[in-house]
Amino acid sequence: MREEKIECNFSRCGHLEVACKQSHFDGYQVSAVLVKREFNHELRIIPKSELRGEIGSDIYFGGMVDETSAGLNPARYLAGLALAAQRAGACLCDHTRVTSVGRERNNKFRMETSKGAITAREIILASGAYTTDATPALRKKIIPIGSYIMATEVLPSDLARELSPRNRMIYDSKHFLYYYRLTPDNRMLFGGRAAFFPETENTVRQSAEILRRGMIGVYPQLGDTKIEFVWGGTLDFTLDVMPHAGKIGDMYFAAGFAGHGVAAATWFGAKLAGLVCGDPNDIPFDGIPFRGAPLGLRSGHTWALPLAGAWYRILDWLT
Ligand SMILES: Cc1cc2nc3c(=O)[nH]c(=O)nc-3n(C[C@H](O)[C@H](O)[C@H](O)COP(=O)(O)OP(=O)(O)OC[C@H]3O[C@@H](n4cnc5c(N)ncnc54)[C@H](O)[C@@H]3O)c2cc1C
Repeated sequence: MREEKIECNFSRCGHLEVACKQSHFDGYQVSAVLVKREFNHELRIIPKSELRGEIGSDIYFGGMVDETSAGLNPARYLAGLALAAQRAGACLCDHTRVTSVGRERNNKFRMETSKGAITAREIILASGAYTTDATPALRKKIIPIGSYIMATEVLPSDLARELSPRNRMIYDSKHFLYYYRLTPDNRMLFGGRAAFFPETENTVRQSAEILRRGMIGVYPQLGDTKIEFVWGGTLDFTLDVMPHAGKIGDMYFAAGFAGHGVAAATWFGAKLAGLVCGDPNDIPFDGIPFRGAPLGLRSGHTWALPLAGAWYRILDWLT
């Protein structure tokens, strides 16, 4: 952002994780000790009695703060990256679907697209949860999971300060989690694994209602607040819930960001670009066994997703 002067409301406001159960809060102490020992990184435990200084909600059992975390507006960040790439000479072809990838006689890749064919010496696959049958080797490893988010109307500033006095990025300790924060114009931005299925008009509508109920559960103060925007996207989970990178079918790839790709995808992108240009491979995620998703959880096959959703709900109930 600094190098390319990308204006995207970047703010190092820290994040707050909040515990939905006493046992989750007890686990924070263990995490904080481990992170300090292994990474020399400080996490601050917030007991329930002090939680009002961090969040205007009484439903949680305590919290844990990481002051170094930051937030940004990802749409502005993406637009800034695209402009930076263009300035550096990249040709961007939006609304252009790659339909197949093959080889020419000279061994170059040949991609058929919805707007014509193109050849390339190297390919970087950055298609995430939206990976199609054009690259089946990657597609069969990705589990696509819907995630949804909504924004309220602009809140009065005293209410906004009450909900999030330190303006943190906040998320809870469940598998089926909620994550939320204030926007710079004081809307509550509230997201979560609502419908689980990839986004359609229907799942967005269902998710809006699920998320509204969730938001009021956290913040009863927002019972009469209007929801002005709702949208969703699809996350690229892998079987071990870890990112993977390297080569697949002779193409470079990075995938498996599972809802944490805003910073990570850029980092992996720079690393893969380095490999194409001949840099040594120092990506620690390359070479980790990358197992395929079980049938029924693969990209494009969604019949098993409700089972996966139910499994996470059971885990939340048990743990
Ligand atoms: C509601 C929601 C909230 C989120 N919150 C956070 C957060 O707080 N923090 C965080 O770090 N991450 C978050 N994420 C996840 C983050 O958005 C992703 O991890 C990130 O966008 C991944 O970037 P990417 O470039 O790998 O893939 P994507 O942004 O998914 O881009 C993949 C692109 O590939 C294109 N594509 C696929 N197949 C083809 C083809 N055959 N031909 C042409 N194009 C193709 C797709 O159209 C798409 O544009 C959230 C996601 C959602 C949906």
